[in-house]
Amino acid sequence: MALSFIEVAANLATVRERIEQAATRAGRDPLEVTLVAVSKMHPPEAIRAAHAAGHRVFGENYVQELVDKADALSDLDGLKFHFIGHLQRNKAKQVVRVGAVVETVSSPRLATALGTRAAAAGQTLDVYVQVNVGGEVQKSGCTVGDAPAVLDAVREHEGLILRGLMTVPPATDDPAEVRPFFARLRELRDELAPGLGLSMGMSRDLEIAVEEGATIVRVGTAIFGSR
Ligand SMILES: *Cc1c(COP(=O)(O)O)cnc(C)c1O
Repeated sequence: MALSFIEVAANLATVRERIEQAATRAGRDPLEVTLVAVSKMHPPEAIRAAHAAGHRVFGENYVQELVDKADALSDLDGLKFHFIGHLQRNKAKQVVRVGAVVETVSSPRLATALGTRAAAAGQTLDVYVQVNVGGEVQKSGCTVGDAPAVLDAVREHEGLILRGLMTVPPATDDPAEVRPFFARLRELRDELAPGLGLSMGMSRDLEIAVEEGATIVRVGTAIFGSR
């Protein structure tokens, strides 16, 4: 069930408030934290509602859905998409065309595909390297050990601008259990990409992510309802 404009606007306000309180608690400026509203599996109208409420940055997980929504919403000003799903190299061109920030670069080969496409289009692309800090089998993202090589590959491409690291921690019953994974990503960032961003935290655990230094939180359910 799609939520009404009123509900989306109220949810956005609540999430912004949660970010503000967590940032304040951690002695951080709330403006350092970008809220990516994850609109996957919700219709374009959900994005229109959030846009009307002043929101501009949205997250999508599937290339076709991203492209369809970008086309359907081309009349909206200032719209920016972050791609946060698994990306196949043969879809790099489509993501570049939309100008999405790619948060899920997980291999040197994907970096090369994106960098080549961006250069061919005469564009630059903002990217994050996704790291599987939980070390889970079957989870996307490079291993902690492979992260330096993926970062090197991104830095080699003039078409790519490295913006930071991203992670999706293991699912846990208690949101507090994710804290060590967020802290691990921050340490890795300090070591490999000092001063750059950290994309971590979702509906359930965004406060913990902000306390641990997130510069992007990716929030779906708390804004748009269940999928
Ligand atoms: C779906 C998704 C989110 C949003 O999750 P919610 O729990 O709905 O807030 C964030 N990040 C990624 C990578 C996702 O796939």
